[in-house]
Amino acid sequence: MTSLNFHPAGRHVLGIPGPSPVPDRLLRAMSYPTIDHRGPEFGVLGHRVLAGLQRIFQTRHPVVVYPASGTGAWEAALTNVLSPGDAVLMYETGHFASLWRKMAERLGLAPEVVALPGICPQTGLPNSWRRGVQPDLIERRLREDGGHQIKAVCVVHNETSTGVTSDIAAVRRAIDAAGHPALLLVDTISGLASADYRHDEWGVDVTVSGSQKGLMLPPGISFNAVSPKALEAARSARLPKAFWAWDEIIEINKTGYWPYTPNTNLLYALVEAVDMLETEGLSAVFARHQRLGAACRAAVLAWGLDVQCADPAVYSPVLTGVVVPQGVDADAVRQLIYERFNLSLGTGLSKLKGRMFRIGHLGECNDLSLLAALSGCEMGLKLAGVRLQGSGVAAAMEVLQHSATCQARYPG
Ligand SMILES: *Cc1c(COP(=O)(O)O)cnc(C)c1O
Repeated sequence: MTSLNFHPAGRHVLGIPGPSPVPDRLLRAMSYPTIDHRGPEFGVLGHRVLAGLQRIFQTRHPVVVYPASGTGAWEAALTNVLSPGDAVLMYETGHFASLWRKMAERLGLAPEVVALPGICPQTGLPNSWRRGVQPDLIERRLREDGGHQIKAVCVVHNETSTGVTSDIAAVRRAIDAAGHPALLLVDTISGLASADYRHDEWGVDVTVSGSQKGLMLPPGISFNAVSPKALEAARSARLPKAFWAWDEIIEINKTGYWPYTPNTNLLYALVEAVDMLETEGLSAVFARHQRLGAACRAAVLAWGLDVQCADPAVYSPVLTGVVVPQGVDADAVRQLIYERFNLSLGTGLSKLKGRMFRIGHLGECNDLSLLAALSGCEMGLKLAGVRLQGSGVAAAMEVLQHSATCQARYPG
């Protein structure tokens, strides 16, 4: 059995698109003593957590926090606003959108999948797994639904299995253009705090997110940001819910407390994470991710490989999917890279298994940590016998060198 104590020299490079590397500052914050969750200090912490989350989700409305992985918050979003048998329109962008749809089926909902048809001739990969949400397909389907049977539209903002970031404001416009009352439910588990996201401005009814991606925390907490329209829908929704029910949590949250034992130590880290993001500035954080994404794609193109996302308008600033040539097993390349260079990369999920791997450039990521990951990829691809056109590392260095951001900040 592999010993969990085995520790090669230097830091492991966690290049997967979540969990992302946890900054030392957050690890230290997590080591504060666990306090009484009904005691006087806790209320101060609770208020800070909830106010900070509203700024990150860009909402004036409640953000509900669950001691659960993102999957729990998916279930919470569906069970709070929907009733047994409700029709939901779910756009298929990739593996995570498919998993959310499977959950809707298990909960007794009637999901209807909408997706771009067809297979990409060069790569043999499904078109809808290479492009963003097509708002016109949603609008067309909603216009056909004159009786308003469809109760919600569900989309994934940043599809982590493919590296595609969809335009959520455009989805809202499509729903409004169809004059349809369906709720808009959005998964931005991997988008929040890395890609621009505006819960209120974009008219999202329920936003689902999690701690272990852009927020840089370990896994273990997840969120629902909730619009007034979603709160209203929750009053009459009939899917069974108890632990996930928003009403009691939101009521008790007004005092800074939770109805159950919250994840105290992760909440310490959350307050620190919000402070780190706001000190850098949210727009600077988003720009840093865009820049790292551009450098990573430059590397892939210089290698002569395909980026999984086929539409430059929706390239993800969070991760890049790298399609390997036909006949190469992407998982064998990943394993070789892991064993030789102590670098973890994301596997190809379901339909993409063995066809691609994913490089995360989210959260605690900077120029040199990205270059470390790209160096590991480049050496590993060569060792695996993949014929590369040129040096991706050199191409990424060019991008980074000529688009300087101020890394060092001096006081005053
Ligand atoms: C990570 C992720 C999930 C799953 O979250 P868990 O914390 O693993 O339950 C769902 N959707 C997207 C887009 C994700 O990136």
